[in-house]
Amino acid sequence: MSRDLYDLLGLLAAVAFILALKGLSSPRTARRGNLIGAGGALLATVIVFFYVEAPDELPLNNLGLILAAIALGTVIGVPAARKVQMTQMPQLVALFNGVGGGAAALVAIVEYLNLGATASLPVLIATIFTVVVGSVSFSGSIVTFLKLQELMTTRPVVFPGGRFVIATTLVSIIAVSAWVIIGGGTMPLLVLGALSLLFGVLFVLPVGGADVPIVISLLNAFTGLTVAASGYVLEATLLIVAGTLVGASGTILTRLMAAAMGRSIFGILFGAFTAKATTSDAAADARPVKSGSAEDVAILLNYANRVVFVPGFGLAVAQAQHTVRELADLLTAKGIEVAYGIHPVAGRMPGHMNVLLAEANVPYEQLAEMEEVNPTFAQTDVALVIGANDVVNPAAKTSPGAPIYGMPILEVANAANVIFLKRSMRPGFAGIENELLYDPKTTLLFGDAKASLTAVVSALKAL
Ligand code: NDP
Repeated sequence: MSRDLYDLLGLLAAVAFILALKGLSSPRTARRGNLIGAGGALLATVIVFFYVEAPDELPLNNLGLILAAIALGTVIGVPAARKVQMTQMPQLVALFNGVGGGAAALVAIVEYLNLGATASLPVLIATIFTVVVGSVSFSGSIVTFLKLQELMTTRPVVFPGGRFVIATTLVSIIAVSAWVIIGGGTMPLLVLGALSLLFGVLFVLPVGGADVPIVISLLNAFTGLTVAASGYVLEATLLIVAGTLVGASGTILTRLMAAAMGRSIFGILFGAFTAKATTSDAAADARPVKSGSAEDVAILLNYANRVVFVPGFGLAVAQAQHTVRELADLLTAKGIEVAYGIHPVAGRMPGHMNVLLAEANVPYEQLAEMEEVNPTFAQTDVALVIGANDVVNPAAKTSPGAPIYGMPILEVANAANVIFLKRSMRPGFAGIENELLYDPKTTLLFGDAKASLTAVVSALKAL
């Protein structure tokens, strides 16, 4: 394939990526956007096989190795993507993202080995950038994966002298980068990679659980920039375009999520170092709570004029979206006004609740965004919190130093009655106690959300 044809097809793939992003901006066109993006990625991959640098070079260079790599990726990636639960999607994205950053860093190192002393200063700078940011993205993403998968604590991890260790690592990265530029060779580049891997871990450890999604989005933007820089090193325009798109969209998403959670990016990354001690552990708290039966809840609902459902992560775990719709239909048939209050970070990914409720065909006009539903809680008789915790936790307003402090919440406490459907007194993702569970107006219905909702539906039908 000639260079011109290769470039033309590359341009087509780049246009597909842009159209994909456009499509993904609305739920109606998201599926089509996704397909267009996948088509672009397929095209970008296939044309590489047919492009040769010199006319006498055979196409399909290193075919065996490339096919082996694709086979390995497929064997690991396809089952992982198929098996993953909706609730585990963010950690899968984190893992895939980290692997992308790591791959870009490795490619830059290999290219440096090829170029050796002939590398120009701009190429050297791009190589250093790729190795540093790619490695940070790789190790940082692994830590976010461990946090989201709850294989390690989701709380901020800080240790004495942490700030000093981070600062020293950063200064060492700058010093070793200078060493690479003044001709240190491969060794300093490998040291640079190792230091950057360490920095990635140190950078993510202090981030509290509730802020992890924002960091994933930030690392995603980093990976995009890494890929763009590696495109510069490899003289691959398509990589520059794709990387810049990921970098830009990741940065926008990061800012939007930070705004939705009422945080500054700086506060998210370094807040743990200045935070005061948070409220005590829920497990250690022995205060009494008011728990009720499905019948009690059915009676409360039956005499309400307005009910707001507040879905959260537990609704997704229990897969209770169809049962909640059934309950909503039953209430609507009784002339009771029903709405769903949707928090932008309820669940484990942006838009998680919208996707779940759309699956159960919940009427769109019943969904109310946080800003829209908050002023209505004062006129609401029952706020039914289904597997949500952090997104309704008043500590976000009242406990400076709490990991979620500053995050706008759904103000269910303003409703006349609050019902929580959850299995235990365990806290939510941020790991902090929720005072609202002890409020006299709160009733707890313990159990799996789907089982509890099914019982409430039966009790309501029996009334
Ligand atoms: P939380 O994680 O705060 O709370 C979930 C609640 O669901 C828990 O109280 C849990 O209690 C309960 N629960 C779990 N399984 C079940 C079940 N089968 N049946 C009934 N209840 C169940 O969820 P929220 O949605 O309120 O908040 C989301 C949190 O996740 C925020 O901190 C957010 O920052 C973070 N996050 C958000 C992301 C996003 O983009 N949306 C991504 C990653 C994290 P119990 O164990 O007692 O049942």
